[in-house]
Amino acid sequence: MIRSAASATRNPCDKVIQESRQDRRRAAIGATPLIVPRPQHGISRANISENALKVLYRLKQESFQAHLVGGGVRDLLLGREPKDFDVATDATPEQVRQVFRNCRLIGRRFRLAHVHFGREIIEVATFRGGAVPDGDADDRQIDNGRIVRDNTYGTIAEDALRRDFTVNALYYNIADFSLIDYADGLADLDAGRLRLIGDPEQRYREDPVRMLRAVRFACKLGFTIDAATEKPIFGLAHLLADIAPARLFDELIKLFHSGYGREVFEKLRQYGLFGQLFPATEECLAREDHGFPITFVSRGLTNTDKRVQEDKTVTPAFLLGVLLWEPVRRRFEHYLAAGESTNEAMFLAAGEICARQQPLVAIPKRFSLPMREIWSLQPRFEQRDGRRPQRLITHPRFRAAYDFLLLRADAGEADPELAAWWTRFEEANARERASMLEGTGKRRRRRPRRAKADPSAGPDTKV
Ligand code: ATP
Ligand code: MG
Repeated sequence: MIRSAASATRNPCDKVIQESRQDRRRAAIGATPLIVPRPQHGISRANISENALKVLYRLKQESFQAHLVGGGVRDLLLGREPKDFDVATDATPEQVRQVFRNCRLIGRRFRLAHVHFGREIIEVATFRGGAVPDGDADDRQIDNGRIVRDNTYGTIAEDALRRDFTVNALYYNIADFSLIDYADGLADLDAGRLRLIGDPEQRYREDPVRMLRAVRFACKLGFTIDAATEKPIFGLAHLLADIAPARLFDELIKLFHSGYGREVFEKLRQYGLFGQLFPATEECLAREDHGFPITFVSRGLTNTDKRVQEDKTVTPAFLLGVLLWEPVRRRFEHYLAAGESTNEAMFLAAGEICARQQPLVAIPKRFSLPMREIWSLQPRFEQRDGRRPQRLITHPRFRAAYDFLLLRADAGEADPELAAWWTRFEEANARERASMLEGTGKRRRRRPRRAKADPSAGPDTKV
């Protein structure tokens, strides 16, 4: 059983923290860790995944140091269920591979060992060193302040200071089940404070994704971002442009599919980060901050949050479809007004916005294709003549597209009558559907074709 969050606020480590705080202030951060022995903290092995424990014990057996670290420790202390368990050790990735048969080494920027147990992966990282570039250019490459390659190994103390937030730098030592805190993480955890280790601006420049992580953890944990950690974000959001688009996609999914996406959205906008990730959307929102575009995105994210909390499936296709819809819709209207057919207008609009988005956040094809289908089905909901509704309802993407239509109607962009008609149609049996279709008439409504110059007419005459 995991301790409740309420009891976690009355942290059993409180006394130890208080007593040690003054000493710690005197000591340089990281020089002497605060060590909380087993009886004085709330982490129990019963709450740690069996596979993580296997990895920790096995490393210890092989005479390596082995610690649980990162989100696993943080979340256990807060009485939350950890998403995954990360292990830190003094064994090199190659040594880890020798210990575990079910192990794969991954990563270039950071070399890590992944130990596989069916669907569960325990990530094992070797202690990193060299908080200051040590001249070994092959192991730690810095490009314009940004760390592009980083495989210098070090001690646990160095490793702690290389982590991002103080609350993410707590170690649970399998040798004696104690907690080790080099960065005042326990005090911050207790205060609900998110604080970067070291100089915040420098840490963001080293890895700008930390700005997104700050937002993610603030929302996920309900923590306040410490003023010094918060301040540089406003001026550094543009650094996200240097991050690999595939990494940003992964980060976005973590941000928006964790059950607090609406709050994340608001915070990302507040810090100017959202516009870096979705400039076309931000342009629309900035112009019309109170109308349906913002309502649409907010409600879409709230729905996704609800689905995540209810353990229902969510797909990046729908999420990104929501986030990019407004600019797509505007370009769609533009192309329609220019005389393109409905299909062509949607095809052009979607292509244009995706092409703009792709260099920033790489959306894998398996999500961008269904996302574009959801969009392209939207105008088809308006075509209710003949057998079209019957055909549309059997489309494999109907359900997602219909949910999308409901959201549009709910936000005041699509006709609520139309959405209500589709709800009735979807729920009706075959006979009821046939009678509903009788009322829609058989004549196909066509948009006027694009006006083309008639070669037989005079130079200024259009047909
Ligand atoms: P969660 O898994 O709940 O999303 P987490 O804190 O475990 O949160 P991970 O991405 O799993 O986050 O990373 C594990 C740990 O690795 C972090 O807690 C942190 O100590 C360290 N870490 C991850 N990313 C960075 C980074 N960009 N800069 C510095 N340290 C990092
Ligand atoms: Mg983790």
